[in-house]
Amino acid sequence: MKTKTTFFCQNCGAQYPKWMGQCQSCGEWNTIVEEVVKKDENKPWKNKESTTKRLAKAEKIVNVTLDKEHRIYSTDKELDHVLGGGIVPGSVILIGGEPGIGKSTLLLQIALNLKPKVLYVSGEESSTQLKMRAERLNNSNSECFLLTETNTQNIFRQITDIQPDILIVDSIQTLHTDYIDNLPGSISQIREAAGELIKFAKETATPVFIIGHITKEGNIAGPKILEHMVDVVLQFEGDRHHVYRILRALKNRFGATSEIGIYEMHAQGLRIVDNPSEILISANTKDLSGSAIAATLEGNRPLMIEVQALVSNAVYGTPQRSATGYHLRRLHMLLAVLEKRLGFKLGAKDVFLNIAGGIQVADPAIDLSVITAILSSYENIAVSQKICFAAEVGLAGEIRPVSRLEQRIAEAEKLGFEKIFVSKFNKAIQKNFKIELVQVTKVEEVYKSLFV
Ligand SMILES: [Zn+2]
Repeated sequence: MKTKTTFFCQNCGAQYPKWMGQCQSCGEWNTIVEEVVKKDENKPWKNKESTTKRLAKAEKIVNVTLDKEHRIYSTDKELDHVLGGGIVPGSVILIGGEPGIGKSTLLLQIALNLKPKVLYVSGEESSTQLKMRAERLNNSNSECFLLTETNTQNIFRQITDIQPDILIVDSIQTLHTDYIDNLPGSISQIREAAGELIKFAKETATPVFIIGHITKEGNIAGPKILEHMVDVVLQFEGDRHHVYRILRALKNRFGATSEIGIYEMHAQGLRIVDNPSEILISANTKDLSGSAIAATLEGNRPLMIEVQALVSNAVYGTPQRSATGYHLRRLHMLLAVLEKRLGFKLGAKDVFLNIAGGIQVADPAIDLSVITAILSSYENIAVSQKICFAAEVGLAGEIRPVSRLEQRIAEAEKLGFEKIFVSKFNKAIQKNFKIELVQVTKVEEVYKSLFV
């Protein structure tokens, strides 16, 4: 057993023999911390001769067959979709999300639904707590094993006994390996434990799901390097006060990123949302002012989303601006465009913006509906719920084209919208749509057409 002190960068996980003010690997300042590391070179899992290990052999390219990669289907079609068509054997999938958002519920539910043998290792809850949680989910898989353990060597011992087809670890921050003498959750422990799990996954072709909590800044706690080590990074997001949850692929070695899955959180667990567009539009049949519907895209998926705005006279000195589900900076920019281009005196107004369903939207095509919702609240004139919008708004108030417009139009038409506002600068639209296309170039035109 040898003891040594190592310096780690908290941001990227780089290792240094001595302290430095700036990390030479990622360039961040004051991120390097000292950790006492006691390392034993005889790691059982690392040195064990693997039974499945085989020597790679060079092969002629013409002889390589393009067999469809073997995938394990999880019975959760949203998860399979986000993963790019099922779980790849031997892949390591990191699921990040704020504490309490439902990561354990999601994975326990998947564990209970899976046909193959699953080992669910929890360092967060006792087996009784997990059992109670499973009862609520109203599902039982006789091939699902629970283990309350945080020591990786003990976990690998159990794995040898049980031989699971899939391993779930809840969470990476609770794990510790004997070979590093440091607290769980420290950078060296997280890095080492993840390394052992990855080695296990690759050598035995067993898929491993790892839960990771995220920090206030929105990063998966622990070094960023963790995200580089694993094959897939998924983020489970949503507002704890709303029922909707989104599973988003941030990195995927086996499929497209930016794919999403949508769930509803119930007492009995998470339920897949089949028709998300209809749900993200509030059920008001009456047309209310301050609301506009955007035809957005999340990954490959068209989503109709309702934007709500409230514009009122500022009661207290400084006008308030707040945005939920939308970038505040972008809201400030759009308000400046309205002041400058349409001469609205918004400087003395409070402006509140909210994306229905508690979801985060980064698609710029939502801009025009944000502008319209603000104008609608300001004028106190409702926009018909049969109208929707799909365009970005530029600094000069110009209506800019957006990607894959036809797909958005098709979704709007399918859901019974009668009119969609789009940019005139979008390339010629090929298909014939029944829905009326209103092609505009400036915010002024939208204002005149809806509120004058
Ligand atoms: Zn660094």
